[in-house]
Amino acid sequence: MSKACIIGWPVAHSRSPLIHGYWLRKYAISGSYDRQAVRPGEVCQFLASMSAKGLAGCNVTLPHKQAAFHAAARQHAGARAVGAANTLWYEDGALACDNTDGVGFMSHLAASAPAFKAQDCAVASILGAGGAARAIVHAFLSAGVKHVRLFNRTRARADEVAAFFGPRVKAYDWSVAMAYSTDAGILVNATTLGMQGGGGRLELDLAGLPASCVVADLVYVPLLTPLLAAAKARGLTTVDGLGMLLHQAVPGFEKWFGVRPQVTSDLRDLLVADLERS
Ligand code: NAP
Repeated sequence: MSKACIIGWPVAHSRSPLIHGYWLRKYAISGSYDRQAVRPGEVCQFLASMSAKGLAGCNVTLPHKQAAFHAAARQHAGARAVGAANTLWYEDGALACDNTDGVGFMSHLAASAPAFKAQDCAVASILGAGGAARAIVHAFLSAGVKHVRLFNRTRARADEVAAFFGPRVKAYDWSVAMAYSTDAGILVNATTLGMQGGGGRLELDLAGLPASCVVADLVYVPLLTPLLAAAKARGLTTVDGLGMLLHQAVPGFEKWFGVRPQVTSDLRDLLVADLERS
């Protein structure tokens, strides 16, 4: 029986057990996936004890993503791009890590906006310069987007991200986000703005976006964010944050339990019902 878990502090809010539990039942796998509350400062100790506890690996949520990245012996490209890990497993006995947010985003994008082709996209606009924005930048560059424009409230943070990724990524002031997105093939909100319960309002006039621009929001509470509602009202193709949450779980499940799981409408409905209850 394979075992995996999610570690965090706190961890009670995590929806990962719902996702992995659904797949374990669906594929009739004799395994388990639990929450483990791990205190800050105890991450390395926990990770070192994982194999003795019979765990095939784990997911990592706040505030442990950076500590887990540094603790892993092998860091895959997605994790190196972000400097943080969300998925850990063993490779030839060594603890390996990756950050699956970028591939999760791209899988959901392909499913929700099939006409969008990254390799044909000349310009992508990203709002934000935190960990999630870094994951999206890495995913876009890897998929062939030619130029990425980053707009962040704290300009210095966007400058740092642009310097890390090189000349295909440029940082701009937050105030010019819409003026510099009139040729964007996709606009992604990777800030906390629009999130229920204190994220703050994301106020943008989308009138200048091209009619072909895809608008994506990483925020998934609420599911229909004000940004996505405004994009829909303009007739633009939209991509919500929930699909990314579901798709980022796929690689971990495959590593631990040996089956590549499908993101289905049943699974999505389960998560939507859970979000509506909370
Ligand atoms: P983070 O590292 O803390 O970054 C937060 C970002 O939001 C920064 O760019 C920050 O700008 C910006 N921000 C916060 N308050 C702002 C405000 N009032 N005005 C303008 N910008 C503001 O967080 P993260 O891990 O990157 O996550 C970002 C978002 O993505 C969150 O909403 C998170 O829930 C979501 N996310 C979703 C998924 C998914 O599966 N759907 C996965 C990962 C993350 P400054 O640099 O100026 O502070």
